Amino acid sequence: MFCDFHTHNAKPAEQVLKLLSAAELPEEDLPGVFFALELHPWNLPESFTELPENFLNQIRQADAIGEVGLDRLQGPAMDIQRQYLRAVLEAAADCGKPVVFHCVRAYPELLAEIKPFPQIRKMLHGFQGNEEKAKMLTDAGFLLTSRQTLYPGGGLETDAVHLSIQEVYDSCKVTEEISVELEDRFFRFLKG
Ligand SMILES: [Zn+2]
Repeated sequence: MFCDFHTHNAKPAEQVLKLLSAAELPEEDLPGVFFALELHPWNLPESFTELPENFLNQIRQADAIGEVGLDRLQGPAMDIQRQYLRAVLEAAADCGKPVVFHCVRAYPELLAEIKPFPQIRKMLHGFQGNEEKAKMLTDAGFLLTSRQTLYPGGGLETDAVHLSIQEVYDSCKVTEEISVELEDRFFRFLKG
């Protein structure tokens, strides 16, 4: 099995397990597709209001939450993004769901926000950074995913790119043994 830890492509594929991020739950179960309910920082309103009841209800039916997070270059003011993130983390902690994070130039803020929630399973997608940053984030409990690099303890993803997860596995030279580990990691992230 190939595990795509983060994608926006809902289409099921043979031999692929994927965690799909989307703003609405799919109408029906799709084979091999797990679902993360998104509240992307780019799409947040300019001011904070409580999370809608509909979002909270959908969280309970989803396999995970995300992507959610902080982005210094896009979206509303950082304060507003942090308020939303806090509300989402409280909801995640309440229902025991894992969370997929997006973070651009806001690592200190992200680390501060997750600190009160050590119990939440966390994945940071699209990670690009040096070894030192990778270590800081894995030490804080994040599973790191990327489409270029397989980090120690991390996963692989296609995100919004028109690549197949098989191509990502190829370019990262994933062996049979590593692929078994990736599948195990995928399920541990989702199920605990
Ligand atoms: Zn994404």
